[in-house]
Amino acid sequence: MAETDKRDSALDDITTHIAKAAAIAERSASDIELVAISKTRSASEIRVLLERGHRVFGENRVQEAAAKWPELRADYPDVSLHLVGQLQSNKADDAVALFDVIHSLDRMSLVRALGKAMQKQDRDIPCFVQVNIGEESQKGGCAIAETGDLIAAARDAGIPICGLMCVPPSGVNAAPYFALLAKLAADHELSGLSMGMSGDFETAIKLGATHIRVGTALFGPRDATA
Ligand SMILES: *Cc1c(COP(=O)(O)O)cnc(C)c1O
Repeated sequence: MAETDKRDSALDDITTHIAKAAAIAERSASDIELVAISKTRSASEIRVLLERGHRVFGENRVQEAAAKWPELRADYPDVSLHLVGQLQSNKADDAVALFDVIHSLDRMSLVRALGKAMQKQDRDIPCFVQVNIGEESQKGGCAIAETGDLIAAARDAGIPICGLMCVPPSGVNAAPYFALLAKLAADHELSGLSMGMSGDFETAIKLGATHIRVGTALFGPRDATA
């Protein structure tokens, strides 16, 4: 099969799986945004999905996104580009200029940097507060107990907060972590839930995900070093 055909059917397969999981959860599939995670993928791989009509993409590095997306966007101005990776405060200006949604707001220093950058550029970028839902020392995200303070500080800084995001511990059932994030979001009256990746997006949808972040299942396996 040609590369293009493979990716065509992957997008169709995932769309079908989203619809099925949504139906089981008695939700509308249109309430679930598929963010195609295109980190490490070439512009030509990305174009295959763009040509199929997909418009929502996610990257985890500001520099990589800045190198790839201006040219793609010139051809597809209605693209929505999401940042899903850890963001250094000194890249806040670049991130605000480039992205439409940020999923990784996870600490006070970043609240300050993003608040300033948005004000300076007069651009309001909706952000998810990333929660370290498994309380893993090596992972990004704020501590569960700090979520409320971070949301409040972000709002004070003029940052629109659209929901919570998590990357649960790997190798274990993600469902309890998704349920915990959903509860935390409800406690804070937030409707957005960015959770679920290639291996567990159906579970995430059943537990309320509004944004699923899918890379491998759409594009095939990534280079292990990425
Ligand atoms: C890479 C990445 C994904 C996509 O992971 P897959 O397993 O390839 O679907 C989702 N979320 C974040 C934060 C990522 O870095």
